[in-house]
Amino acid sequence: MTAERDSAYTPAYREPPLCLICGEALTVRLAKGRKSGKPFVMLICSRDGRHFRAFINYQPYVVEVIKRLEERQ
Ligand SMILES: [Zn+2]
Repeated sequence: MTAERDSAYTPAYREPPLCLICGEALTVRLAKGRKSGKPFVMLICSRDGRHFRAFINYQPYVVEVIKRLEERQ
């Protein structure tokens, strides 16, 4: 059971995620929901936003990303 759980947390790869179409690195952006006002994380293709756009709304994750971005500055 432990092995199964561990594999779920092992990243498939350690490189930054790439756009599936053009192979450009995905840019991480922070945005706020217009209605909710809650922050969310957006992953977007750095070449063309129509290629790939992903949204992460899970608040504990978003809070952690914001924390790390602030620590970098
Ligand atoms: Zn792309």
